[in-house]
Amino acid sequence: MSLTLSQHVHTLGQHLLQQFGERVHKVSVDAGFTCPNRDGRNGVGGCSFCNNDSFVPDQADRPSIYAQIEAGSVAVARISGARKLLAYFQAYTNTYDAIERLRALYDQALMHPQVIGISVGTRPDCVPDAVLDLLVSYQEKGRLVWLELGLQSSFDTTLQRIYRGHDYACYVDATRRARQRGLKVCTHLILGLPGEGLEHARLTLERVLDVGTDGLKLHPLHVVKATRLAYEWRRGEYAPMSEADYIDQVVDLLRRTPREIVMHRLTGTAARSILLAPAWCEHKWRVLNGITQRMAAGSYQQGDLVG
Ligand code: SF4
Repeated sequence: MSLTLSQHVHTLGQHLLQQFGERVHKVSVDAGFTCPNRDGRNGVGGCSFCNNDSFVPDQADRPSIYAQIEAGSVAVARISGARKLLAYFQAYTNTYDAIERLRALYDQALMHPQVIGISVGTRPDCVPDAVLDLLVSYQEKGRLVWLELGLQSSFDTTLQRIYRGHDYACYVDATRRARQRGLKVCTHLILGLPGEGLEHARLTLERVLDVGTDGLKLHPLHVVKATRLAYEWRRGEYAPMSEADYIDQVVDLLRRTPREIVMHRLTGTAARSILLAPAWCEHKWRVLNGITQRMAAGSYQQGDLVG
């Protein structure tokens, strides 16, 4: 996120800069996890927007976590010069395995000398107490830990419609158990879900804030190839939101989000090879600039509508 955006929004980059006194860059790692919405525990088709072709079970030749971070550190040094790294377990459900395998993978990331912590992306139905206790143990050793929970919507009708495989109550339970232990939670929300508009997004934000969260990640819904959503889109049953509507909704939600909440991401895209719609989400920087311009033009700040 740009410097200008951080004048209006509490971005993760700004937050880490303040915490560590220097830039910290997030490096994604793929540990070859699967997902209960894929492997049959909850379902086999996955969420309606999740690309089936990109689902690759664990591969013997996958580089180790340490090797992935090492490769990422070289790229980061070239792009931003940041020396400190946050290892982001991103692909699929990164707490969905035996506790000893999780420990081995997280330990490997934290062994890298540039890594100051881990950010672990997962589903609310995959964080038993033993996993939370493992994550807390890293925090107790002075490591930074973020638990990233994919909620997407607080409306169970929407969660059912997108075949999410968990309900809102499951998110509430997971978030409370994590935060009671002192873990930081970043909640992922998708804008433009089928049947949802600004009022749904506002109500989901209000509910998430009532439960308590430490960070938010906002994302437009993408239609990508080989998904149920792609069939709905082709049949005219789903229309993606416009770029202008997306920017309007993000700005609206930012103004309703207290300043202490860390904004991890305000937009996102999919690989060009699989993206069907909306075409505008390919232009990540244009979208971020649009959000920044709207915030600046209105002299808005994150949280300025909070009572
Ligand atoms: S939870 Fe994530 S990985 Fe699993 S099906 Fe849904 S989007 Fe795909």
